[in-house]
Amino acid sequence: METIVSAEEPVIKPHASMQPPFLLKTLQRIVEEVGSAESISEALNLLVARVRAALGVNVCSVYLVMPDSQRLLLMATEGLKREAVGRVRLGFDEGLAGLVAQRAEIVHLDDAPSHPRYKFFPETGEQSYHAFLGVPIIHRRRVLGVLVIRQRERVCFDESVVAMLSTLAVQLAASLRQAELSGEMQRLLRGERLTDLIVPGLPGAPSVAIGTARVTYAQADLNKIPDRGTTDVEAEIRVFDEAVEQVRLELEQIHQRMAGVLPEEERVLFDAYAMMLASNHLIGGVHKRIRQGQWAPTALRDTVSQYARTFDEMDDPYLRERAVDIRDLGRRILSKLLPHEREIESFPDNTVLVGDDISVAELGEIPPDKLVAVVSARGSSSSHVAIMARALGIPAVMGAENLPVSRLEGRELVVDGYQGQLIVQPSRQVRREYARLAREERELAKDLSSLARQPAITPDGFNMPVYVNSGLLGDVEPALKSGAEGVGLYRTEFPYMVRSSFPSEEEQIPLYRQLLEAFHPRPVTLRTLDIGGDKPLPYFPVHEDNPFLGWRGIRITLDHPELFLTQIRAMLRAGAGLGNLRVLFPMISSVDELDEACKLLGRARNELLEEGADISAPQCGVMIEVPSAVYLAESLARRVDYLSVGTNDLIQYLLAVDRNNTRVASLYNPFHPAVLMALKQAMEGAHRAGKPIYVCGEMAGYPGAVILLLGMGYDGLSVSVAGLTRVKWVIRSFTRQRALELLDLALTMESPQRIQTLLDNALIEAGLGGLVRPGKR
Ligand code: PEP
Ligand code: MG
Repeated sequence: METIVSAEEPVIKPHASMQPPFLLKTLQRIVEEVGSAESISEALNLLVARVRAALGVNVCSVYLVMPDSQRLLLMATEGLKREAVGRVRLGFDEGLAGLVAQRAEIVHLDDAPSHPRYKFFPETGEQSYHAFLGVPIIHRRRVLGVLVIRQRERVCFDESVVAMLSTLAVQLAASLRQAELSGEMQRLLRGERLTDLIVPGLPGAPSVAIGTARVTYAQADLNKIPDRGTTDVEAEIRVFDEAVEQVRLELEQIHQRMAGVLPEEERVLFDAYAMMLASNHLIGGVHKRIRQGQWAPTALRDTVSQYARTFDEMDDPYLRERAVDIRDLGRRILSKLLPHEREIESFPDNTVLVGDDISVAELGEIPPDKLVAVVSARGSSSSHVAIMARALGIPAVMGAENLPVSRLEGRELVVDGYQGQLIVQPSRQVRREYARLAREERELAKDLSSLARQPAITPDGFNMPVYVNSGLLGDVEPALKSGAEGVGLYRTEFPYMVRSSFPSEEEQIPLYRQLLEAFHPRPVTLRTLDIGGDKPLPYFPVHEDNPFLGWRGIRITLDHPELFLTQIRAMLRAGAGLGNLRVLFPMISSVDELDEACKLLGRARNELLEEGADISAPQCGVMIEVPSAVYLAESLARRVDYLSVGTNDLIQYLLAVDRNNTRVASLYNPFHPAVLMALKQAMEGAHRAGKPIYVCGEMAGYPGAVILLLGMGYDGLSVSVAGLTRVKWVIRSFTRQRALELLDLALTMESPQRIQTLLDNALIEAGLGGLVRPGKR
């Protein structure tokens, strides 16, 4: 930060009354008001007006960077001439606002005119303002604009003022980024012939698809309700009126129940609710919107938002608070409306599931023959939803943060899972091109299907068996057809997630038995319950600040031996007489945990033997997915039959990058040199103990990673069904010798990007370009 405060002049400490608590409240109010503005220009005008009034400064202005340029444009001001808005432009190398943008740094001066970069803009009608505070508006390292306050006197603004302005700039950055996209979206909704709106995200699952958006939304969150129309106005009004009546009765009951608990003056709130519920603003407003063709939830969303805004703008603090009540009322009505709406939900052919944060359960609600792609505003390629998409062989774009979710319902979308982007309302040419690529992908999959019957052996005779990862029983048929040599990972938590309570031993047995029989005599690896982290069970809520570092996987099951024993007994009984069961323990971070897990496994088997069952000891393995387990690989391997590396978690723990956090997703890189070193070390540990080691994380399905793992000498890979033949293609195309050469080269490199490029080029040169980019080649 450049701070120049002259020593000769007395520095006035203005706004002495503005103590931090006052500023905090003011800040909150400004953020709320600006956040609920209808358009970005309204937001900017509100911002400059509120900041100037709150701080008592002479000028507050916002400059925004003009698209693809190094120039700023004055977008809103209080204090300078209004006519200057939209006219005054300055380069990053001009004036003090330009300096803020150029340096991406705060500039704080008590006497701006004496600064060498000061420039006078007569068209703004500016007078001799001395004090200057300019704060850059930055989103993801990109300067979007500058927020400036100015004061006639030579003053140094208080630290709390600097902090407040910086906070506002951060808030503004997010809104501006959102507006960049939704502004285009608005134009599109107004019927402008805007096509090919590109929304960037992250690659979640490779492949491309074209389809119709179906928005999934959090129940009872009004802001998440998507735009939708209705064809049966009367039915929609009836449903809405019934919901209102239910809420009215509910509130009446609460009111009565609270008699004697709450003083009467508090209980008048319920009268206020009842009045609002009867008001024509709310009910009449919703009816009117439904008659104009809106779906009841959308009509409610828009009416509540408009009604609440009129209260937001009131000066009286008591009345302003009523906006909160209106929104609450809206949510209550919505919660009554939605169960009905859900029943009548149907899915279009070629559904693209779009949502803020799509859950595995939501994905499971859509018939697989209708679902062609998934787009989520949150998450990353290692989120479980992306893993499911890969298992289903459909593209996924994750972390599309600026996705105008609620505006996408029914729109045509192109989903490009390679580039990690979607294209809203594609033009004819774009649609044609993507249709061609999608066709080529289908052809490639068909060509590769002949590999199903071929062994996974390199041209120089190195055997690298490929197993399949599964969590859905629907995977079994395709997995068998794709020539998997067994199941390398069955995530048992998925069947737990779709139930309303823990499944009993008897309920689990047929599930496991079906899988064990289907693949017999090939091995089937059943992992013990790995809940916690991003896989909560609705009936076993665990609330923690850091769920990934908390009560998760084996930690939960060792603390609940009754759950663990039930599951292990079910596994052992399911495997009776087959001899192909492998048990796998997740999240092991110490030898003690493993010893305890093995003890419980032994106990379960002994009990079953005592009960007269004929149960042989299963193969037993440990997941290497915590950095400590990498260092302990040899000790762990000596205690079990095999190791299996869970790269999804190992990468997140090794690089300290939350696997679901979009903001840091670009740091989550399987080709990070540290990841390669850890993989090599784990492999050496296992082999020193004379035990095989596999990889079952998603990395095993990345074509470039297959080459490296082949070079390292891994004993097998376990990948999603959809990726199986592709992985076999790589193994059958690269000699072990070539893989070793590429591994040696990769291990000399320090940049993940360079390693990835090395491998992509090797794949393209070998004629496998179709694996790293859309299409066939
Ligand atoms: C892993 O962490 O790599 C893994 C396979 O387990 P999950 O993705 O289920 O956490
Ligand atoms: Mg894991």
